[in-house]
Amino acid sequence: ATPAATMVGSTLGAQNGVLFKGGDVLERAKDVDTVVFDKTGTLTTGEMTLTDVVALGGKTAVTDGGETATDGGTLTARPSLEDHEVLRLAASAERNSEHPLAQAIVEGAEERGLEPTTPDEFENVPGHGVRATVEGREVLVGNRRLLESEGVDPSPAADEMERLEHEGKTAMLVAVDGAVAGVVADADTVKDSSADAVAALQERDLDVMLITGDNERTARAVAEQVGIDPDNVRAGVLPEDKADAVEDIQSGGRKAMMVGDGVNDAPALAVAYVGTAIGSGTDVAIEAADVTLMRDDPLDVVKAIRISQATLDKIK
Ligand code: ADP
Ligand code: MG
Repeated sequence: ATPAATMVGSTLGAQNGVLFKGGDVLERAKDVDTVVFDKTGTLTTGEMTLTDVVALGGKTAVTDGGETATDGGTLTARPSLEDHEVLRLAASAERNSEHPLAQAIVEGAEERGLEPTTPDEFENVPGHGVRATVEGREVLVGNRRLLESEGVDPSPAADEMERLEHEGKTAMLVAVDGAVAGVVADADTVKDSSADAVAALQERDLDVMLITGDNERTARAVAEQVGIDPDNVRAGVLPEDKADAVEDIQSGGRKAMMVGDGVNDAPALAVAYVGTAIGSGTDVAIEAADVTLMRDDPLDVVKAIRISQATLDKIK
């Protein structure tokens, strides 16, 4: 682009809350044929709320009271925990985590009048969950991957997990002393304009995709709400694998715009043909991106592409 066209485009962008980092980006954005959205904090508000707490009481057989398992489950000498105890232990384990999922669990517990304690030991396992020692008990809160890597069988909670995930919620397993004790779920709200943004991009013949660390079922439920094809969902992507996933999408010659907000998204923003950060997102994401959207509005993704096209058309 000529310096004049770049100037016009940048100014038009700035007036619309779309900041292009230089003339190159302004020029590239018009050639994007695929838009890859991060889920949490990008298509959704990222403001999580605790919605469900389920203790697997009925499914844990108690042997010391003379009772026997009625569901064919494993016999255990430990009495099952009540809902509030599952939540209190989960919240205590999550107390030192800054993850939005964790903060919602802690706030949810406090709102229900519980007092999470400070864990004796705490370890954050990125893309998996947390591992903590609470009041001498080993507590895990996280996804199936976390429990499996710790040698805990998540299957007693399979039905509950699936039910909650179908509702688009992020369901997390709570394991206590080596056995799954319950499930907690957080829900997030899809942003008002996400579906409109997806539709507008599809009308311009762009492929729209969703990439997330969240599980397949939750990801698909959100994709359905915003109009993204289930085949275009890449779920269960570990933070360190997000960039590879974008490179994989681009390997067939696609030119992808990656849109994200989190620290996790920064490497993917950097490898994308155009990286776009949501302005309310983390500084790391904004630094890695080529475009910053000052407002928290997915429709500005469409604006960014339109401004690029309009500016470059003008000088032809
Ligand atoms: P996202 O891509 O949605 O930002 P992350 O990569 O941070 O997700 O996490 C992926 C998954 O790992 C989450 O959906 C959740 O199941 C699990 N997880 C990560 N951190 C935590 C945590 N602190 N507590 C419970 N589960 C967690
Ligand atoms: Mg995010």
